[in-house]
Amino acid sequence: MGQGVRRARKHYNNLLLLIEVDWMLTLSKYSVGVGDRFAHQAKAQLRACMLAADAGVDVIPVWNKSNREHTIIGSEPGSVRAAADAAVKELSWKKPYHVDADHIRLETVDRFLPACDFYTIDVADSIGHPATGDAVTAFANRHPKLTGTLTIPGVSAPFTTTRADVERIAAKYLKAVQDAGAIYRKIATAKGAENFITEVSMDETDAPQTPSELLLILVALADEKIPLQTIAPKFTGRFNKGVDYVGDLKQFEKEFRDDLAVIAFAVKQYGLPATLKLSVHSGSDKFSLYPIMRRAIRDAGAGLHLKTAGTTWLEELIGLAESGADSFGLSVAKEIYAKALTKKDELCAPYATVIDIDPNKLPSAESVNAWTKEQFVSALRHDPETPAFNPSFRQLLHVGFKIAAQMGDRYLNMLRACESAVSRNVTTNLYDRHLKPLFVG
Ligand SMILES: [Zn+2]
Repeated sequence: MGQGVRRARKHYNNLLLLIEVDWMLTLSKYSVGVGDRFAHQAKAQLRACMLAADAGVDVIPVWNKSNREHTIIGSEPGSVRAAADAAVKELSWKKPYHVDADHIRLETVDRFLPACDFYTIDVADSIGHPATGDAVTAFANRHPKLTGTLTIPGVSAPFTTTRADVERIAAKYLKAVQDAGAIYRKIATAKGAENFITEVSMDETDAPQTPSELLLILVALADEKIPLQTIAPKFTGRFNKGVDYVGDLKQFEKEFRDDLAVIAFAVKQYGLPATLKLSVHSGSDKFSLYPIMRRAIRDAGAGLHLKTAGTTWLEELIGLAESGADSFGLSVAKEIYAKALTKKDELCAPYATVIDIDPNKLPSAESVNAWTKEQFVSALRHDPETPAFNPSFRQLLHVGFKIAAQMGDRYLNMLRACESAVSRNVTTNLYDRHLKPLFVG
């Protein structure tokens, strides 16, 4: 064998090695989580991404459904995959798409393994629990650079962190990171490390994470060798389900921009994947934040994942109501509200940290029963300019999908009967009110 051949073969082997080590399923720069509770709107949702593509912006759909939603509805992750695959095939979508096992933990991940290529590892419950052994001291020793004054390009002010701060933050989050590692390794063993996208979520907790806490969390996740592509922190202010942001917009903007800078820094300094980006949970309907987030991601050249779910189910209800009395869609929508009202506490309990319903603002079942379709739609549709819009009514219906699930085929048949109104509302809501202000134009 000549030297040239040997050299060529060595080069070829190195190339193979490089491909093997470097290939990983990656998430595109802009992506949208499209939850679809009853697995009937995948096409209508995909059409919103097609409208964005027509406008020149790729926003990749990720069909997410949490373990909590599956449990409440009584569905299996395979149904999400089937609906996504069918929509993609029918509409000839040629770009990537994913199926997200949303908010899973070690004990709930198993049934998601065959269907999903995106895993949102939820470690919110582990925050504040003590890490094992001397992990905190070891972490602080391993990262002396985190102590002192740290100037990160793009952050509003340098972080000044003492050794005691590092240990305090590590004590709060290391257990959560260790748990994330255990869940990640379980998925990697089952699926192969390169075949899925990993997100870590900490949003469903009481206190927001500051940008300096986020940095430490990212460093710890890098230590844990988790190839993190999205992270969902809890931001400052209220991210209630299905309604606009409640909080200080200036403060949000500052923290959001700092978070973007921290992520870019952590990618560079700690070897996290270059595709790492923020994931905004309960991300639907945050109309006052989209211009802020849009400017910030453009300025930073950053990507973003916006996760939505219940906003699509609410458009189903709007579509039913719009179809009016003749089709009985309106009466089904009213029936769901009346039942949700009687089961309010039970329905709200799993969502306690992400809803704010004023019981005094909830109309009685009798008065809603007397409403026209216009009245029902204007109370429910998220149009903050409309005086009749009722955020408490909307939030109760947001968590009221269990009622529709209990109706079984009666609800699903009604969805099919009112399909044109439902799908028009689903697409318009997702594109006009979400993708367009956030990503397009
Ligand atoms: Zn979440």
